[in-house]
Amino acid sequence: MARDFYEILGVSRTATQEEIKKAYRKLARKWHPDINPGNVEAEQTFKEISQAYECLGNPEKRKLYDEFGEEGLQSGFDAGKAREYKSWQQAYKQQAGAGRAGPEFGRYQSYEDIFGDIFDLGGGGKAFKGRGPRRGRDIEHPMEVDLISALKGFETELSMQKMTACALCKGSGMDPGSKLTTCPACGGSGRINVAEGPMRFTKPCPQCGGHGQIGRPCPQCGGTGQAMGEERIRVVIPEGVKEGSKVRVAGKGEPGMDGGPPGDLFLIVHIKPHPLLRREDDNLYMDLPVTVTEAIKGGTVTVPTPKGAVKVKVPPRSQSGQTLKLRGKGAKNPKTKAYGDLMLKLVVKVPKTDDEQALKAAEALSSFYQEDIREGIRF
Ligand SMILES: [Zn+2]
Ligand SMILES: [Zn+2]
Repeated sequence: MARDFYEILGVSRTATQEEIKKAYRKLARKWHPDINPGNVEAEQTFKEISQAYECLGNPEKRKLYDEFGEEGLQSGFDAGKAREYKSWQQAYKQQAGAGRAGPEFGRYQSYEDIFGDIFDLGGGGKAFKGRGPRRGRDIEHPMEVDLISALKGFETELSMQKMTACALCKGSGMDPGSKLTTCPACGGSGRINVAEGPMRFTKPCPQCGGHGQIGRPCPQCGGTGQAMGEERIRVVIPEGVKEGSKVRVAGKGEPGMDGGPPGDLFLIVHIKPHPLLRREDDNLYMDLPVTVTEAIKGGTVTVPTPKGAVKVKVPPRSQSGQTLKLRGKGAKNPKTKAYGDLMLKLVVKVPKTDDEQALKAAEALSSFYQEDIREGIRF
């Protein structure tokens, strides 16, 4: 969706030409690619600023933009016709009165359609959106992933119920067994003349969908070219994928119309929490139980990580609650490709026993505390 030109330049709709010029100069100085070499975002912003100023900096273009939005800037746009249509539209709506829900556009589905025809009258040859090959819609689909799989990344096959190109007609909507003949409604031109209110113009022929030729509609899909079906889709979930990420599967959205390309499938990743491991940014946190002996003498223990087990040195005289940091053993950031750290919080476990020898050993240990361990615990 294009942003509002006034918003881009940060000026009000009532700004003077002088104010617009000033705002543009200030932004252009800040975002000029020469000042921000290699900064793609700056380049994009500079382009937007320039485009906005090209329109608002010109009082005539600005007037068209205020009245019709960006459509009004297209070459071949006929302001008179558009205005005429708008007022007729208004009157028509009033006539139609209550009882009609939503805007009524006569034979047209949207304002866009009528604008498309206005362009056509100008002879500019600009096709309006919606005619000819159209890209299929994008689909979003939730996907639950357990934390360990998300950290490792994986490939899998999903089975999804979705709109697919009709298997019989391969998406054309025509009965493959029927022969194409010239459309009787438009005589093969693909367009018909229509009158709407005070205006006359041409529309794509509804009978042949603008193709100029028709065959029998496909018996399986009734001519839509699409059918609900099950599709098995191979997806690659990248290593380190985060909660809420959108994973794009190109071309697996809804099928295109009239030979247009399909949309994309976006998997919205939801990560199931893990009982032991917790992710925060790209760092992982886990408790690591150690024995009293390991805590006092130090030792080497084996610890699982998303990339396999590693040996970790527990330093001598370690305390419960102390954290060991394993650099680079955390989660991969799918954007920066950098790895976070794995933080291990030591938890000293005492043996669960009332064995006499164990009690004696514990007693012996007691004499080695050099200070009152609860000395600092007071309010
Ligand atoms: Zn079909
Ligand atoms: Zn036709």
